[in-house]
Amino acid sequence: MTNEYDCIIIGAGPAGLSAGLYASRGNLKTLILEKGIVGGQLQVTHEIENYPGMDHMTGPQISDAMETQTKRFGCEVITNEGVTAIDLKSQPKKITCGNKTYLAKSVVIASGSDHNHLGVPGEEELGGKGVSYCAVCDGAFFKEKNLVVVGGGSSAVEEGSFLTKFASKVTLIHRRNSLRAERILQDRFMKNPKTDVIWDTVVESINGDMLGVTSVTLKNMKTGETSDFPCDGVFIYVGLSPNTQFLDGSVKIDGSGKIISNEKMETNIPGIFVAGDVRNTPLKQAVTAASDGSLAATMAIGFVEALEST
Ligand code: NAP
Repeated sequence: MTNEYDCIIIGAGPAGLSAGLYASRGNLKTLILEKGIVGGQLQVTHEIENYPGMDHMTGPQISDAMETQTKRFGCEVITNEGVTAIDLKSQPKKITCGNKTYLAKSVVIASGSDHNHLGVPGEEELGGKGVSYCAVCDGAFFKEKNLVVVGGGSSAVEEGSFLTKFASKVTLIHRRNSLRAERILQDRFMKNPKTDVIWDTVVESINGDMLGVTSVTLKNMKTGETSDFPCDGVFIYVGLSPNTQFLDGSVKIDGSGKIISNEKMETNIPGIFVAGDVRNTPLKQAVTAASDGSLAATMAIGFVEALEST
């Protein structure tokens, strides 16, 4: 089997899987390269309640359904295959994963984003011992425990509500006095008797020992006062950063590191398309990622057909 493809998609989140479905269904020999496991942010989201037609489904269930459907049309998916370098100006484009090279007539970058770290003392040391970035993965370890969630966006509030299924108490620590989370998620969190919010406050350090987290040191942003807040676990949701490191400046990005595209998902390089959270999009949702993927793949089909007719 040759490692040359009509279309290579980087990333197997909803954007990449949707691109894979459209490209393979459009008769392109298509490969998805995924640095981890299939699903992207879907894998770490308990319930997706705003993907039309998929009510009461978890992120992993939607991811599995998308993967099965995409593979049904012949799309190959290789997991644990992180892209380390890319030569997008050659034709075919060269994509390097460690010591392997793949060739592609067209590329869809759907590499998504990864959670940010707080960068405070104790965060790295207590990783896996009470510090987590994934409520779906780790929530069940905290039955009847006292948890802290850091952040004020939809992820913090939504996953904070999810954690009340296990924890005795979930306290949200937010650096300002208003949340940026979707209103419906805020209301649900606030109404839950197991939740509380500490406003205008940042986490200065996460404290613990060999056995795990014991407290966080908090600082009130208005008074400057510091205090110790006892807890058994800390879930951090302070935003996402786009995964573009492997591009090494070859594709134009904006000031926040996201890839610049036009309405056809085209980047500044012909034959290179972009989809999902890694793009400069105003809405980061599974449904918009899937929409981006379908459009990017459709444009890739047109690009490959034009290439073959010359
Ligand atoms: P986000 O919207 O960027 O929110 C990050 C939060 O972390 C903000 O409240 C921010 O505070 C806070 N923060 C950032 N750096 C911090 C620091 N160093 N210390 C303390 N707090 C810090 O990220 P997100 O919640 O992960 O959401 C990402 C995207 O996914 C968004 O577009 C969101 O709408 C979407 N999303 C949607 C859903 C849904 O529709 N159900 C669910 C999850 C996520 P400030 O507010 O002060 O900046």
